[in-house]
Amino acid sequence: MKPFLGQVAEAFYREYNRDIQNMAFVFPNRRAGIFFKKYLSDIIDGPIFSPTVTTVSDLFIQLSELQPADHIYLLFSLYRHYSDLCPQKESFDEFVPLGETLLNDFDDVDKYMVDARQLFTNIHDLKEIDSRFGSPLTEEQISYIRRFWKNFMPIGESDNKSHFITLWEILYSLYERLRNDLRNNSMGYEGMIFREVAERADTGLILPYQKIVFVGLNVLNRAEESLMKTLKKNGIADFYWDNNAPTLQDEYNRASYFLKPNVKEFPSLLQLEKEQGNYVYPDIELLGVPSAVGQAKQCEIILQELMKSNAIPAPQKALNTAIVLPDEHLLLPMLYAIPSTISPINITMGYTLSNTTVAGLLDILADLQKHTRPNGDETLFYHRSVLSLLSNRYLQLSGQSAINRLTDDIRKHNKIFIPQKELGVTPLLRRIFVPLKNADEACDYLLDLLAMLQEELNADTTDNPDENSPEISVIALEREFIYHYYLSINRLKGIMQENRIEMNVATFFKLLKKLTAGISIPFEGEPLSGLQIMGVLETRALDFENVIILSMNEGIFPVKKVASSLIPYNLRKGFDLSTTEHQDSIYAYYFYRLIHRAKRVFLLYDTRTEDMASGEVSRYVYQMKYHYRLPIEEKMIGYPIMAKKIRDIVVPKDKYVISQLLRYHKGGDRYLSASAINTYITCPLQFYLSYVEKFQEIDDVSEGVDAGVFGSIYHSVMQQIYDRMTGSPIQAESLKAIEKDDKHITAFIEQAFAENYFKTPQKPKALTGQNYLVGEVIRKYVKKTLEIDRALTPFTYLTSEREIKQSHAIDTDREILLKGFIDRMDMKDGKIRIVDYKTGKDKIDFRNIEELFDKEKKDRRKAIMQVLMYAMMVTDEDHLSNPIAPAIYRVQELFSPQKFRVDIKMGFSSLDDYAQVDQEFRKEFDKCLQEIFNPDMPFVQSAHIGEDGPCSYCAFASICLQSAQ
Ligand code: SF4
Repeated sequence: MKPFLGQVAEAFYREYNRDIQNMAFVFPNRRAGIFFKKYLSDIIDGPIFSPTVTTVSDLFIQLSELQPADHIYLLFSLYRHYSDLCPQKESFDEFVPLGETLLNDFDDVDKYMVDARQLFTNIHDLKEIDSRFGSPLTEEQISYIRRFWKNFMPIGESDNKSHFITLWEILYSLYERLRNDLRNNSMGYEGMIFREVAERADTGLILPYQKIVFVGLNVLNRAEESLMKTLKKNGIADFYWDNNAPTLQDEYNRASYFLKPNVKEFPSLLQLEKEQGNYVYPDIELLGVPSAVGQAKQCEIILQELMKSNAIPAPQKALNTAIVLPDEHLLLPMLYAIPSTISPINITMGYTLSNTTVAGLLDILADLQKHTRPNGDETLFYHRSVLSLLSNRYLQLSGQSAINRLTDDIRKHNKIFIPQKELGVTPLLRRIFVPLKNADEACDYLLDLLAMLQEELNADTTDNPDENSPEISVIALEREFIYHYYLSINRLKGIMQENRIEMNVATFFKLLKKLTAGISIPFEGEPLSGLQIMGVLETRALDFENVIILSMNEGIFPVKKVASSLIPYNLRKGFDLSTTEHQDSIYAYYFYRLIHRAKRVFLLYDTRTEDMASGEVSRYVYQMKYHYRLPIEEKMIGYPIMAKKIRDIVVPKDKYVISQLLRYHKGGDRYLSASAINTYITCPLQFYLSYVEKFQEIDDVSEGVDAGVFGSIYHSVMQQIYDRMTGSPIQAESLKAIEKDDKHITAFIEQAFAENYFKTPQKPKALTGQNYLVGEVIRKYVKKTLEIDRALTPFTYLTSEREIKQSHAIDTDREILLKGFIDRMDMKDGKIRIVDYKTGKDKIDFRNIEELFDKEKKDRRKAIMQVLMYAMMVTDEDHLSNPIAPAIYRVQELFSPQKFRVDIKMGFSSLDDYAQVDQEFRKEFDKCLQEIFNPDMPFVQSAHIGEDGPCSYCAFASICLQSAQ
């Protein structure tokens, strides 16, 4: 079917031939104009000058005496007048959301040529309504106004009403002041320009065209209507409406509501070529996808299939295909999903500045400045903001290895606040880590940074030879984002200086965030080649053979969000302003018109119902199915929802793995610890990843003392206390004396913090804030341990933190290297205790040795396996005849005298001599190690995968528990 714009081009060239060059064609958007020129050039048979091609908005600007004012200027001007009129002072950033609403409302008031004085009036008495609002309002309109004020009275009834009326009463003055101010500067907002042109139209506009042809419009505002009427009356206007689709002729379809009277009022002078034969609806496929981003992936499959079937004739000739994105958030996922063979790609859509990747970076910069801390002459930066900045892709471009070294250093030394001088490892970072004093400095700072980022991105693109890769398309977009941010900040700076507005840095960043939420970047790609990616508004007047629409969800297409307005619905109806009905009608028209001439239509929607998503498909789908009875092929794309065990991972012991395992054999360089063996029993795969491949979790900066560090500090303090008394009998009085010696305990605690938390063992320091409080808790635990130990006196303290390394035969051929760290060894009445301190909730009873190695057992006693392994190693190492008693100090139980025990219970009796279980323990222990080193036994996942258990705190969960696709 011939595209609508092609039909118009043909009709005009047929009728006017070369005279067409003296005409102006007015379209709803620029892209439609460019396509029109292309269709025209396809049919002309000799060189002619191109006719003028413009948009409605540009036509009004061309005819106006006013220049459009930019958005930031408008907000500032409005704010100045508002501050004069409003008794309650608001800061500019607080005012921005209200300012945006007011500008929308004033724009509407002017486009619909409403009498602002009448609208923004305060009715004290309902009787006033009839006398105030006579002609030109109809009785129906007046009844809407009456309804509003009737419901609103009495005015002082609630705070909300009082606030509303206070604001309402200044609106007319505000509107007038803003307009006068702008007019004095020969400027205007769009609505003001529209109104000014419409009001002057009758008295004479200078028109440089013989004819003005309006093409592809739909709903008109009063100013447009007024100008078109005047031009029609003067015999120089012509109109073409794209309303041929049967669905657009249907009077019950909202899409036709506003179109019908327009077609009647503004008829076409030329007859467009009749569309041949019976109308055939396009093939429509509806695809439900359980993810927003998944729709982009599905789109990739559709594009592949279209290429395979020649519906896209060649990857470079995808101009017949449009991907429509009602939700702009899907733009970047979509770019990444487009098959690399398809090129070029053209993007035409608005993209809100605050949704861009650079906005995310600015948020972190704002956070960075918010959390700086002065320290003498220097400034300290908070590690969280610093680390998020250092991991930012833009910053990584400026010197990845230097940045990674800096990141490691911060993590390794647990630096919470980092001095400025340590951070400037690249020129970009030197500019970033600077404290800001005021908004002026913040403007210059951001402008410098954005310019530097732009350079980094340019260099990155130059390094990439494939110009058409999706990465390059994304980088091009990112450069565009940075450029528009730069423009906005530069403008903001200029306006702040002109108006001598001062603000602090935090307010400046807040203001910038609010301002950018209202700024949309207009992407305008080269539209005459390549695959088209478009917003809904950009599809106006264009036709494509293949149309793929994403986010066909109710609330997104049609959009549910209405521009915020202070003008209540009934007053909008009363004054004939646009309402939600206009919006519904406009979007219905966009949809039905777009699919009218397509051959294939793919509608994708998100089926999820969690969070804000309703999973509901757009009303247009229901309408097509049940009202128009169109055949729709429906498919549900099933991405498996995360199940407990989604992906089976089995790692066979191949040559490489065996070579790594051999490193644990006698003569090798690796030692097996108790925790490695416990890891294997819990999950062989986790053992493989951690102890064969040596993948490690990133050691993050811990701001507070976590359980692990708490345990290490406690160990360290106990070690320092007892190290001084090692070897000699310990009496109760000595322990009592230490308990009372707070000075020494404090020194031990500070040293333990320096070693285990600050990682600066040479520089112990006084604790402050939260660390001081943790130190005091540790002091209590230490004193309680000493009190408990007093009951044991006299005893001999043998050693702390004893490291044992040995070779252990697991069968006749193989010896495995083992290592252990024994927290404490002491001796009482000839019995040697092997003590392990535990800060967790370990249990100290068990039934038999076998269950310590049982992979299926959920609540396996890991701590007991560990301390028995140490007992075995001490037995082999020291060859003592003394009984060896394993013991576990559970720090959490220290203050529960009934529960606190240190001896381990096997069955009903205490295990006070390891020799009782030695044989059986060795048998099970060796069996376990034989399995680890058995070349025929692969590493498999935990017996409890997906359950609340090992996977819930495993660093590799993202590998095992991700969807298998
Ligand atoms: S996620 Fe579970 S199965 Fe996978 S390695 Fe970790 S513990 Fe093992």
